[in-house]
Amino acid sequence: MSRSYNAVTCGECSLCCKLMGVSSINKPVNRWCRHCTKPGCGIYHDRPRDCQDYACIWLQSHEGEGLSHIEPMALELKPSVCGGILDVTKDGESLLVHMNVGVDYRKGELGQFIKRFSMIPRRVIIVEGVHRKVLWENTVLAEWNAADDDRQEFLLPQQVTPA
Ligand code: SF4
Ligand code: SF4
Repeated sequence: MSRSYNAVTCGECSLCCKLMGVSSINKPVNRWCRHCTKPGCGIYHDRPRDCQDYACIWLQSHEGEGLSHIEPMALELKPSVCGGILDVTKDGESLLVHMNVGVDYRKGELGQFIKRFSMIPRRVIIVEGVHRKVLWENTVLAEWNAADDDRQEFLLPQQVTPA
């Protein structure tokens, strides 16, 4: 089973306990969970199922779960290091990057990774607070504020697939 916090592999990282929402405990996105001990979970053995089942791509690459075909990702791409959490959309078609607000997704190893992925070409969706941005071939195809726009997020093939 994947874990949102694995003491061995996640180490000092707890970024998903800030950026991700956990509805069963009314934890909003972009706010530290009240149970987070930074690092670690204060209710580890009783943590919600959502937390038990979550593992970012960086963690999966190191634990050989889910994405066992990919090589362990560089330390520079660890969420606690780069400030972003790599994930995939529900349809499995796009790279989803949850950014810690204030961190530039274009910088460093993360920026290079995102650029390479978008140039395959594949869709990349950047989530930063309420801001959403869709990249394709390193170009911004769509950008919106989720607080003002209730379009169905991450499932916008007609808007993000180039003609
Ligand atoms: S963001 Fe990834 S590496 Fe960091 S604590 Fe969560 S699952 Fe572990
Ligand atoms: S319950 Fe634990 S694992 Fe889940 S978000 Fe809170 S601190 Fe993280």
